[in-house]
Amino acid sequence: MTGRISENFEHADRPGVTVTRKEVGELGTGIFCRFCSTELEQTFVDLGMSPLCESFLSAEQLNQMEPFYPLKAYVCGTCFLVQVGEYVSPESIFTEYAYFSSYSNSWLRHVEKYTHNMVARFGLSSKDRVVELGSNDGYLLQYFVRKGIPALGIDPARNVAKVAVEKGIPTITGFFGVELAQELVRKGTKADLLIGNNVLAQVPDINDFVEGMHLLLSPGGIITMEFPHLMRLIEGNQFDTIYHEHYSYFSFTTAERIFRKHGVALFDVEEQKSHGGSIRIYGQHADSGTRPVSNRVRELRERELGARYNCLETYASFGEKVVETKRNLLQLLIGLKAAGNTIVGYGAPGKANTLLNYCGIRNDFLDYIVDRNSYKHGRFTPGTHIEIFPPERISRDRPDYLFILPWNLKEEIVQQMSFIRDWGGRFIVPVPKPEIVSEF
Ligand SMILES: [Zn+2]
Repeated sequence: MTGRISENFEHADRPGVTVTRKEVGELGTGIFCRFCSTELEQTFVDLGMSPLCESFLSAEQLNQMEPFYPLKAYVCGTCFLVQVGEYVSPESIFTEYAYFSSYSNSWLRHVEKYTHNMVARFGLSSKDRVVELGSNDGYLLQYFVRKGIPALGIDPARNVAKVAVEKGIPTITGFFGVELAQELVRKGTKADLLIGNNVLAQVPDINDFVEGMHLLLSPGGIITMEFPHLMRLIEGNQFDTIYHEHYSYFSFTTAERIFRKHGVALFDVEEQKSHGGSIRIYGQHADSGTRPVSNRVRELRERELGARYNCLETYASFGEKVVETKRNLLQLLIGLKAAGNTIVGYGAPGKANTLLNYCGIRNDFLDYIVDRNSYKHGRFTPGTHIEIFPPERISRDRPDYLFILPWNLKEEIVQQMSFIRDWGGRFIVPVPKPEIVSEF
């Protein structure tokens, strides 16, 4: 096995004698890999204690107790799955969900294009059935329905599923896994195209979920899934994309390993720009699939191997990089405040809360945050209690600096807010390294 760096070490009292942790009675973490059950010993990054990132607070809630949970990610020494412990049950996170996929125009354009591509590439017709796991408010399936292709959505969040049903997209409210797949198959439902976008990371029991996919997939069917690529997270220092709602973080190689165990072979992969850098994988039944494996699969596999994603050392160094980023960011902010500048946050996505809590950034640095989502106006960021206002306030207050929290949209935001240069305003971006920017 590769790189189990913490298994053996030299005994403190007997130089030259190597012992295992177990031999000296050292306790393990008691946390086990959700894919392969290996005990997790290697920390990927420890982001301290953090509240749930989507739990924005009302003014009354500011005076109440607020739950914080450990936000610590481990990497498995056997399968290299990066994962956070299941500190919070999926029921408490996903049955009422504040995120409606249809709010994002760029995401809608992305999935509409995807729909055209799938129909053209695989010749889907009214005889096929498309099933989406984590179908949210029907943002994607609506495009298949418009083309006359039967669609079925599955989503645990009642409030968003209701919106999908109102749009005419049949949607089952529930958590997907073997049990639900078996029930659907008994009723004669199978998927010719089985989709999951940004859902794999949110599944605590990954084996049950992927096995369910294998059961639901028709004999010649295709699976496509999109999720953030771990390689982008590490290379881009995107530590703030780690939060309790995301249980797992995948390299292509580890995803391939998980699907292979459940009888699904990946035959193609595409790298996407969305969510800071995602991959879309294509799967088929391992025993009967006939589509050839693309060069892109071989190329990405080799690239990950070349970057040593099969060695624990690659993951172990990430935590130190994150600590350094925190220190540099605080140094930058302290310098700006000492010089008498005003700083306002732009955008309050979930990941902003990982960053603000981990770095301890409150009203001592940011006067307030602005966001376009009206649901968040008048509410406060969890843990750090920074109030959120509509963006219009910026032109009134003319702050010296805008701190861009959704850095994945930085080009768009710098363009939109370019008028702050009229009064000499500038932008701050926290990752990959904290810096002041004027343009891109
Ligand atoms: Zn594992």
